[in-house]
Amino acid sequence: MMHTKSLSELSTALQKGSLSSVELTQHYLDRIEKYDSVLNCFVTVTAEQALNSAKQADVMLAKGEGNALTGIPLGQKDIFCTNGVRTACGSKMLDNFIAPYNATVVEKLNACGMPMLGKLNMDEFAMGSSTESSFYGATKNPWDTARVPGGSSGGSAAAVAARLVPIATATDTGGSIRQPAALCGVTGIKPTYGRVSRWGMIAYASSFDQAGPIAASAEDCALLLGAIAGFDEKDSTSIEHDVPNYTAGLNDSLQGLKIGLPREYFGEGLDPAIASVINAAIDSYKAMGAEIVEISLPNTHLAIPAYYVLAPAECSSNLSRFDGVRYGYRCKNPENLDDMYMRSRGEAFGEEVKRRIMVGTYALSAGYYDAYYLKAQKIRRLISDDFTQAFKQVDVIMGPTTPTTAFKLGEKSNDNISMYLADIYTIALNLAGLPGMSLPVEAVAGLPVGLQIIANHFEEGKLLNVAHQYQQQTAWHQQMPAAFMDIDKG
Ligand code: GLN
Repeated sequence: MMHTKSLSELSTALQKGSLSSVELTQHYLDRIEKYDSVLNCFVTVTAEQALNSAKQADVMLAKGEGNALTGIPLGQKDIFCTNGVRTACGSKMLDNFIAPYNATVVEKLNACGMPMLGKLNMDEFAMGSSTESSFYGATKNPWDTARVPGGSSGGSAAAVAARLVPIATATDTGGSIRQPAALCGVTGIKPTYGRVSRWGMIAYASSFDQAGPIAASAEDCALLLGAIAGFDEKDSTSIEHDVPNYTAGLNDSLQGLKIGLPREYFGEGLDPAIASVINAAIDSYKAMGAEIVEISLPNTHLAIPAYYVLAPAECSSNLSRFDGVRYGYRCKNPENLDDMYMRSRGEAFGEEVKRRIMVGTYALSAGYYDAYYLKAQKIRRLISDDFTQAFKQVDVIMGPTTPTTAFKLGEKSNDNISMYLADIYTIALNLAGLPGMSLPVEAVAGLPVGLQIIANHFEEGKLLNVAHQYQQQTAWHQQMPAAFMDIDKG
């Protein structure tokens, strides 16, 4: 079955010519056709375009051109601008928006010869932890379709989990790569802020947003991250820093690796069953020669409050461009300019987006700026300092990715505070700009659990190495939701 193979196995078959990109792409299109009506991972399927790109990839392969990703199809989160293809970002506001250019991430992956299968569902403007705030309806978790896949990159994580795509792009502002990866039992890495270009990626909170892959394994993530990382002159916050060969470092020994376990990540609020499987995973690392150090990240409890001032502040500014004038939704028969602004925004933004625009506008207003925005910036610094201290003692930090397994659809949609708490372990590192990843460990009651690993700035290679070593010893990342794995003869 092609869809159970790793990227490197697929790549070998493509290079040898025992498999063509057209066959592989068609195989995934068939799976999407068969299962996506149940899961709702895709907002747009670009079948014809995918097959055309696959033909071109086959030409590249026949000439011996390209790289290890050539011919492998993928899904793009619908936050990335894709030339000529609707880019809706989960919102009614952009339902009619056909991007006139490609995001840098898209451009780079196209250049590798990766056919795009389509655009993946997400929370509206990437605000959420369940994909329920999408204008296109919720995505379902393939492990239990009554549950959420996490968010905001729920379409990406669910599509990889059900093997409707071999790999997908995603973005993470406060946890949106790691949290859905954890809830869907797949592997995702959020790179250092500035590692991957944000150009053409629709902005939510610009000082946090970062793109990365969601895949079945760390090894697969390494291939894609290597292709999208690097400086981009079009993104002034992208950083000039060498891109290592992430695949080459995957097998480094973990002997003597110092793993920090933050006390604050194992306290109240963590489901005891999750604590127990996370501890078992940490025991596997001890068996590989790692040393465990108890650490403290004392300002952890301030991460969510600080984030929910700063991210809304940034989004209130970023989303002011959607005014009904230039592109996107415009209300019918506006009476005058103000009416057009107000009704276009009022009719096209969903509830959560409006809530954040209001909170952000308030926090930035003259009378409250010092009390909220400035205060939150100071907390951001304290949180960052916590990590700086920790990385003087340890090489990586580990803990759970999420406090619970996937929750039921609708369970938290009317309780935004409890929704915000789903990111309690992921959000702090976005405040600090650090890289982090989530990988599946033993499931609890049939639902996946993610182990989070955090490293210092630009140490994505170490994260991938540490995750890969675990995946060499265990098979949790190879578990697949049986309901979507049947029959294919591939
Ligand atoms: N759940 C968080 C939020 O709603 C993070 C989302 C994200 O990382 N894009 O802001």
